[in-house]
Amino acid sequence: MLNQILRKDELSKDDLLYLIGLESESDLELLFKAAYEVKTRWVGRKAYYRGLIEMSNLCLKNCFYCGIRSGNHQVKRFTMSREEVLGLVAWAERNQYGSVTLQSGERNDLDFIELIDDLLSEIGQIEGGRLGVTLCLGEQRPETYKRWRELGAHRYLLRMETSSPELYRRIHPADRHHDFDYRRQCLSVLKGLGYQVGTGVMIGLPGQTLENLVDDIIFYRQMDIDMIGMGPYVVHQDTPLGRQAVADGLDSPDQRRRRLDLSLKMIALTRLYLKNVNIAATTALQALDHLGREKGLLAGANILMPIITSREYRRQYMLYDDKPCLDDNADQCRHCLSGRVQAIGEEVGFGLRGDSPHYSPAA
Ligand code: SAH
Ligand code: SF4
Repeated sequence: MLNQILRKDELSKDDLLYLIGLESESDLELLFKAAYEVKTRWVGRKAYYRGLIEMSNLCLKNCFYCGIRSGNHQVKRFTMSREEVLGLVAWAERNQYGSVTLQSGERNDLDFIELIDDLLSEIGQIEGGRLGVTLCLGEQRPETYKRWRELGAHRYLLRMETSSPELYRRIHPADRHHDFDYRRQCLSVLKGLGYQVGTGVMIGLPGQTLENLVDDIIFYRQMDIDMIGMGPYVVHQDTPLGRQAVADGLDSPDQRRRRLDLSLKMIALTRLYLKNVNIAATTALQALDHLGREKGLLAGANILMPIITSREYRRQYMLYDDKPCLDDNADQCRHCLSGRVQAIGEEVGFGLRGDSPHYSPAA
């Protein structure tokens, strides 16, 4: 049965449901091998870097799962200066990272919007447009997305967190800042503006079913998504969802293992189903297993997002507990991660942007 499904070119929802339920080690090995073959055929065996700059932990939202939610008063808030960000961008360019990702808490104040405008203009000039720029700055107004696109940003990552409106409501406060429909609409706006569009979900959320996860993969196709950034849900102790998860025994080693395996299965299934998209092996994988990101690459992912945020800010940008690489600097991360990629027989796409083959600029 398994071999038969893995030989199919087009998987049905029932096939996906069958595959996401696989448990035995030998079955999982077959699944990951099949996904790795599809990856090799469609996107190759190069891992591309997106140097991750965590610019600011100010956030107007209060997502129940996230460590930098506005309601967490333990967090010391920061925003990098323009020079600090540009310094990190220059470091990325010098070290032949083909792309950078600017990420932050969600903000729509004028100071922040203008800072991004300014940064994009500068990055465009310094690098002559060579460096790939991904924005991961949450929900914004359509005119803001449009201006950023015109200023040179060409990818945008906005995770849906879940494609189920009901589950979305359970993990967010019920107010106008946390509106499932608006977030989904943002994805369509971004697509219409010609961005390479990325989305993703958290995997292993309390109350999330296997069918929810399969529906997430189908949602990626329905939305014509070019890039996927998804990873396990990881508990943060100072959050409502995290506290509840701990109380319910959902943060035991067994449960963490389950979330890791589920995340690897999601990567493999997404690769089998969508074939030519970019899929990230996210840092959250490594929070659950020190070899998490390598396992992600072997299950079908082809993108890595090494953190290049300066050391002084890393501890203040804690979305979840056990964030790895807290005491490293960008140089150490570069060295360690390239070694990890080589150890599994792959190559880093140094100096290359590594755009999603799924993306067609004319669309
Ligand atoms: N504020 C922006 C971008 C920064 S947050 C936004 O929310 O879109 C980036 C991602 O971190 C979120 O999309 C979410 O999927 C992830 N994240 C937050 N808390 C997490 C947790 N506890 N476990 C795993 N991922 C988490
Ligand atoms: Fe803010 Fe993003 Fe965290 Fe939600 S997930 S609280 S929007 S940083």
